[in-house]
Amino acid sequence: MKIAGQISIDDVPKMYPLLSRAVNPQYGEKGTRVVEVAGVRFGGDRPVVIGGPCAVESHEQTVGLAHAVKRAGGDMLRGGAYKPRTSPHDFQGSGLEGLCILSIAREQTGLPIVTEVMDPRLVGEVAKVADMLQVGSRNMHNYTLLAEVGRARKPILLKRGMSASLCEWLGAAEYIAKQGNLDIVLCERGIRGFPSGEYSRYVLDLNVIPAAKMLTFLPIIVDPSHATGVSAMVEPASRAALEMGSHGLLIEVADFSLGVPRCDGLQAIDATALARIVKFAYAHGVSVREPAQVG
Ligand code: PEP
Ligand code: MN
Repeated sequence: MKIAGQISIDDVPKMYPLLSRAVNPQYGEKGTRVVEVAGVRFGGDRPVVIGGPCAVESHEQTVGLAHAVKRAGGDMLRGGAYKPRTSPHDFQGSGLEGLCILSIAREQTGLPIVTEVMDPRLVGEVAKVADMLQVGSRNMHNYTLLAEVGRARKPILLKRGMSASLCEWLGAAEYIAKQGNLDIVLCERGIRGFPSGEYSRYVLDLNVIPAAKMLTFLPIIVDPSHATGVSAMVEPASRAALEMGSHGLLIEVADFSLGVPRCDGLQAIDATALARIVKFAYAHGVSVREPAQVG
C-alpha cells in the first residue's frame, strides 16, 4: 500500500541527493565530510566536546564557564542567547546582550562558539558572533529558517526534532544543503517515545548514529544533556554515545557555586565531570570507525 507523504530509508538517495552517501561515492562506505569550525574538526580523527551553559545568563556565569570548559579540555563553547522555552512566561534568553557575552568569552578563551538561532530574521545578527549556528529540535521542521541558515555561510548544528524520523531529519539537512551549505553536523538529542518523561526527559536514540552514517556522510554528535534530563545520566550516556560512533558531544555545564541555573539545571554537570568525559573522548577516538576522511 502506498501512503501520501510516506518516506522510507530507501527513498533517501532520490529525495536527498546532496547528502546521500549512495549518491556521493567520493565518501565511500565510511568516509565522513569533515566540518571545520574555526579549527575544530567534526568528523576528524577524534570526537569534539562542546560544553557550556544552557542559557547565557550573565557575564560572570558564561565567561567563567568558558574558562572552566577550556580547562576541562573542551573544544567549543555552547550557550543560548535565544532560548526556545515551553512557557512564554519563562526566561527567554538574554538576546543581543547574550551574544555580546559569548563573544567576550571567545575572546578570552579562544573557544569557538555555537549558539541557537530561532528566528529567520535574526540569522544575520547571530551569524556575526557565532562560529556555528544551532537549529534546535523545535525548529528542525522550520523550512524558512533552514533555508536562511543555509545561506548564512556558517557551519550548522542541526538538532533532531524530538519526534522526527531519520528521514525527516535528513530532509531538514537537505534544505540547508540546497542553499549551497554542506557544513552541517547532525545532533541527536533524544526523541519522544515510551517511556520518555518518566525517569528521563527523552529516549536517547543511539541506534540512529550508525544508521545515519550509513545513509549520509555528515558527521553526527550527541547531546546527552537534553536526551536524559538527569545530571547523573550525562556521563554514562556520553560514553555510550562515543561507543556507538558519535563524532562528538554537546553538554550542558553549570557552575553550581553561582546557584541553580535558570534553565535546565537538573541536567547540567560540573566542569570536573566534563573533564572526565573529555579524557574518555580523547582516549576513545573515532578513527577506528572512520578510516576514510574526506575534507
Ligand atoms: C539547547 O541545546 O539549548 C536546546 C534547547 O536543545 P533542544 O533544541 O535539543 O531542545
Ligand atoms: Mn537546555
